[in-house]
Amino acid sequence: MTYSALALLRHAFTGNKAWTPVWRFPDPKPCYDTIIVGGGGHGLATAHYLAKEHGITDVAVVEKGYLGSGNVGRNTTIIRSNYLLPGNTHFYEHSLTLWEGLERDINYNAMVSQRGVLNLCHSDSQRDAYARRGNAMRLAGVDSDLLSAAEVRAMVPGLNMDSVRFPVKGGLLQRRGGTVRHDAVAWGYARAADQRGVDLLQNTEVIGIRVEHGRVLGVETTRGFIGAKRVGLAAAGNSSRVAAMAGLRLPIESHVLQAFVSEAVKPMIDTVVTYGAGHFYVSQSDKGGLVFGGDIDGYNSYAQRGNMPVVQDVMEFAVQLFPAMSRLRYLRQWGGIMDMSMDGSPIIDRTPIEGLFLNCGWCYGGFKATPASGWCFAHIIATGQPHALAAAMRLDRFATGALLDEKGAGAQANLH
Ligand SMILES: Cc1cc2nc3c(=O)[nH]c(=O)nc-3n(C[C@H](O)[C@H](O)[C@H](O)COP(=O)(O)OP(=O)(O)OC[C@H]3O[C@@H](n4cnc5c(N)ncnc54)[C@H](O)[C@@H]3O)c2cc1C
Repeated sequence: MTYSALALLRHAFTGNKAWTPVWRFPDPKPCYDTIIVGGGGHGLATAHYLAKEHGITDVAVVEKGYLGSGNVGRNTTIIRSNYLLPGNTHFYEHSLTLWEGLERDINYNAMVSQRGVLNLCHSDSQRDAYARRGNAMRLAGVDSDLLSAAEVRAMVPGLNMDSVRFPVKGGLLQRRGGTVRHDAVAWGYARAADQRGVDLLQNTEVIGIRVEHGRVLGVETTRGFIGAKRVGLAAAGNSSRVAAMAGLRLPIESHVLQAFVSEAVKPMIDTVVTYGAGHFYVSQSDKGGLVFGGDIDGYNSYAQRGNMPVVQDVMEFAVQLFPAMSRLRYLRQWGGIMDMSMDGSPIIDRTPIEGLFLNCGWCYGGFKATPASGWCFAHIIATGQPHALAAAMRLDRFATGALLDEKGAGAQANLH
């Protein structure tokens, strides 16, 4: 079934009785060409591009919960491509380009909203660093604008520009950045993959990976063994646990990141704003709630919930930046498990085990990467060769030292 205005009208006139389920609920086949472990954004996008770009449709996505129950349905929905390092810039720009055409590609309304992403600066040196990043972006063909304090004031009324401690000196704006409705991304990719014949196996946990003579043979699941020629791991926060089933130890730590949403209010912030003097970012959802977040919690964890010290930090930053937020009630708070890599950048690569591929290390920023990640992961699974856009995201960089350290924070996962 194709979604369109005409279809909507037709269904309205026939009592909305003819809608069909958005995807099938198949039983696992004994064997597939390719199995993707993890029905998050990255796993589902990979399945879609495997089918669409490479004609590989004998694919199963194996998900332990329901589709979108992981970070893809828990994030703060921000997309952007405002990176400094070439190894990142072109990859994330490709992602943004795919976001721009996504809804047409998958015939699904993902509410892609290019409302801009504004990084605030609070000192001259920070403005210099933003100018450098903005120039690097422009040289790579990516849009960026360095705004003066007056331009920021005009763009975001309600912002506490003149805080005694951290006055706003300006900002770096990427106008093509913005937000996308996160769970619609999971649903849209799932539907598109399903329509091309991909089996989506929900409530099916991978509990083992069968490897013989250095080659992957398939996965043990809670619904039995499923054979496959190729297995791609896209388990985000659980990557270390899943890779350990094949005897691999990853340069990844798992940490909790929290997010918050307020009660719905009239339009108050029509862009995405990030604080430069603390870790805080905020946007307003189409329902009216302010959606915001901050730093990861202070220790490694697999818990999908957060701790009070970070709640306090985030609330303090919120009120520093937008004093009016102190008048709002907060509705919900939740956590997701982040796969934090040692240099803050992802891994899309083969593994030493033949037929086993790895996609992880997304840290805070994997949602915006979803389309390009799926695109490049599908490429390496289909061809055996890394995609040029993800050439800097190989696993061996941790041995060679060719790190992709955007923040320059060094080999400490929790700082990225
Ligand atoms: C609070 C929060 C805010 C964020 N904000 C942003 C943001 O604004 N912008 C941005 O770019 N990024 C953001 N991120 C990061 C982004 O959400 C993640 O990097 C990205 O979603 C990870 O990829 P994924 O969608 O494939 O992960 P997930 O949705 O977590 O998918 C992985 C899936 O693997 C499944 N799985 C795990 N183990 C097994 C197993 N053994 N068997 C079968 N299935 C298994 C899980 O159930 C899960 O569904 C945020 C994350 C959080 C938590």
